Amino acid sequence: MAESLLSTIPGTRDLLPDELDRWHLVEDRTRDIFARYGFQEIRTPIIEATELFARGIGDDTDIVGKEMYTFRDQSGKSITLRPEATASVVRAYLQHSMHREAGATRLYYVGPMFRHEKKQKGRWRQFFQVGAEILGSDHPAIEAETVEMVLALIGSLGIQSRLQINSVGCPNCRPAYLERLRAELRGDPAAFCEDCRRRTETNPLRVLDCKVEACQPRINRLPMMIDHLCSDCAGHFQRFKSYLSGADIPFEVVPRLVRGLDYYVRTAFEIVSGDLGAQNALAGGGRYDGLAEVLGGPPTHGFGFALGLDRLIMLLPASLGDESIAKPDLFLAHIGEEALRKAIELARQLRRKGLRCCLEFEGGSLKRQMRMANRINARHTLIIGGEELAKGLYKVRRMSSSEQREISPDHLADYLLGRE
Ligand code: AMP
Repeated sequence: MAESLLSTIPGTRDLLPDELDRWHLVEDRTRDIFARYGFQEIRTPIIEATELFARGIGDDTDIVGKEMYTFRDQSGKSITLRPEATASVVRAYLQHSMHREAGATRLYYVGPMFRHEKKQKGRWRQFFQVGAEILGSDHPAIEAETVEMVLALIGSLGIQSRLQINSVGCPNCRPAYLERLRAELRGDPAAFCEDCRRRTETNPLRVLDCKVEACQPRINRLPMMIDHLCSDCAGHFQRFKSYLSGADIPFEVVPRLVRGLDYYVRTAFEIVSGDLGAQNALAGGGRYDGLAEVLGGPPTHGFGFALGLDRLIMLLPASLGDESIAKPDLFLAHIGEEALRKAIELARQLRRKGLRCCLEFEGGSLKRQMRMANRINARHTLIIGGEELAKGLYKVRRMSSSEQREISPDHLADYLLGRE
């Protein structure tokens, strides 16, 4: 009984201080790069009305059908922990009348999402996404620019990735294609798994997404949307590709890449990494011009993506981060009460100058305090004992080189900041 209280529930985990240094690095980089592209942060609630996701993501999806954390609150209202944030951002955009403002609105978010998924490497039930949404523009250049931004973020972290793109058509060209697809699926039911057969009727595009090995040969021979685009969609895709090329961004057209919902139109993309194994998608996104209407708003162009932070951080090169990790600048070791008081005062002065200082009040032997300095990875240690107090000079050791110097309090901050 007591034991189960001492572990996180399956699919969730604590992020410990050592790991969080890497998370902060990635989050800071995200904010910096997204701001360069004109995106502003939005924070929406983690709980929303269940209906928002049921409609916004679609009843026939695994997320809504099987994976949502849904409960009734004290007033009997059905509430869901957000499984993704696009529907929330579009709700907020409409609720706060941002659609009345001129031009495109660029928003991004960072935060936890919740899906009751099957346990698998790279899949968590609470996981983190950064994502961005652009509302109010259907220009293919904005799509290419957004893809460029995600790739800039991933690349700046030293992570290799590949861009895959496709077009899923629009309400003009898709219905006729879906009929062709359905006809083929119905004509050869034995070649497909039960899920595919069900989706033939409910959502045939999602058959292209099927991962069951036995279905693959037949799926590869199905007609693909990309070959049945209307001239507007074909033109849009062509321009999207030319903007990507203009930015020197390599891509691969993957006709089986789909987003299985009616309100998704035209551009779809995924960013994958070979280093992730089966769960190789780092980010996915696309154009969702119909979503605002599904939620009860006016027709609104929308384009966005979500990037999985857990996976991104798994891929961070080990070397990255060490330099920027928030190590303490100074550990102050002290022998005796008078030295402790001096150490407290010095730490206060140095903190005012922006330095990160730590000390152990319990003190104890110098050896014990040095072990502590090592444990917290302090860049420097300073020793104050009777002799140092008498001289007014302190021994400072640079931990990386073990170089030791005697320094007066006036020069300490400059020395620690590397100015002396
Ligand atoms: P999606 O919202 O399903 O399009 O997912 C976008 C990205 O979020 C994926 O490419 C993953 O990087 C990440 N992601 C989705 N589900 C999970 C999960 N259960 N655990 C960890 N990362 C996830």
